[in-house]
Amino acid sequence: MLPTKGYAAKSASSVLAPFQFERRDLRDDDILIEIDYCGVCHSDIHQARDEWGGSIYPMVPGHEIVGPITKVGKSVKGFKVGDLAGVGCIVNSCRECHNCEEGEEQFCEKGMVGTYNSRDRDNSITYGGYSSQIVVDQKYALKISPKLPLEKVAPLLCAGITTYSPLKHWKVKKGDSVGIVGLGGLGHMGVKLAASMGAEVTVFSTSKSKEKDALRLGANHFAVTTDPTTFEKLQGKFDFILDSVSAPHDLNLYLGCLKTNGAMVIVGVPPAAAPVNAFSLIMNRRQLAGSLIGGIRETQEMLDYCADKNITSDVEVIPIKDINTAYERMVKGDVRYRFVIDMKTL
Ligand code: NAP
Ligand code: ZN
Repeated sequence: MLPTKGYAAKSASSVLAPFQFERRDLRDDDILIEIDYCGVCHSDIHQARDEWGGSIYPMVPGHEIVGPITKVGKSVKGFKVGDLAGVGCIVNSCRECHNCEEGEEQFCEKGMVGTYNSRDRDNSITYGGYSSQIVVDQKYALKISPKLPLEKVAPLLCAGITTYSPLKHWKVKKGDSVGIVGLGGLGHMGVKLAASMGAEVTVFSTSKSKEKDALRLGANHFAVTTDPTTFEKLQGKFDFILDSVSAPHDLNLYLGCLKTNGAMVIVGVPPAAAPVNAFSLIMNRRQLAGSLIGGIRETQEMLDYCADKNITSDVEVIPIKDINTAYERMVKGDVRYRFVIDMKTL
């Protein structure tokens, strides 16, 4: 077994603190990654605090993992020691069901194995990227280009793919009017990616102070959602809206902003359900849908797309000891626009 250092939550109400644990010895298909950086996703907070239920403790969060490969198993092909690799939200799946065969492992019929807070097929508990190293099957590892700054690439492993996948699935294209709700980790990647696809982007935000940044990130317009006239002015204006908000909010207001046949896709996962008024949907034949991260193949496609177009995350790099303060700031919406932990500070 491989002794590993990390930071863990011991219970839903405890702060994160140093934690020692063991990674498995490498199997033939495994690679060992020394973690340089790990992004901080709001899902880490939801799960560390058991806001979705079913959390497993102690929990080492983190699913935006990048670093060099330090060891490979004997059947590994396509990765070698010294290459940069990444791990996102998925570390295993059944590999046989229809969805796995389609490359949509996130929808594995037997349940995908999450990078942390999950039980692997052998019933072992998975531990995430707030740690010194990770062992992962090559099938679930991603190739990372050395071209871009590594700390800015880490958030692509979750925030990047979670916004790229629905933009592609709903075929967002040049000239489409796209709304991005919530300018945090996911939201700011949504802005950059939608703008790169040629969309006309509007950010819906509770934070007036983020307006300048929104425009710098590639948005064309900024709408403050605390101003009730915003929703009147933007009635029926959007082809597509991506909702990345982490806390309860009124979906009906945003549905009203869709054009005929427009679609709103939820990626944010607030802990409480939100009521949807049937009129918000039947009028103008509007669609409401959801999307969960993306499969491994599409994650690689997104990483290659971002390397090609020089798209990375805007990050604030923190030492691991500041993780609890970062969580508090994220809950207040005070993030510009992704915290990334420098794992060398562990
Ligand atoms: P984040 O960085 O904390 O950003 C969330 C943003 O939502 C905030 O910056 C804020 O933006 C807005 N917001 C927060 N509280 C709000 C409130 N009470 N009312 C209205 N707006 C509020 O979080 P994230 O990492 O981007 O994650 C966002 C959500 O997506 C989380 O629920 C996370 O669990 C979920 N998620 C889902 C998937 C998936 O596969 N579907 C993947 C990853 C994450 P403004 O300041 O601009 O208002
Ligand atoms: Zn995430």
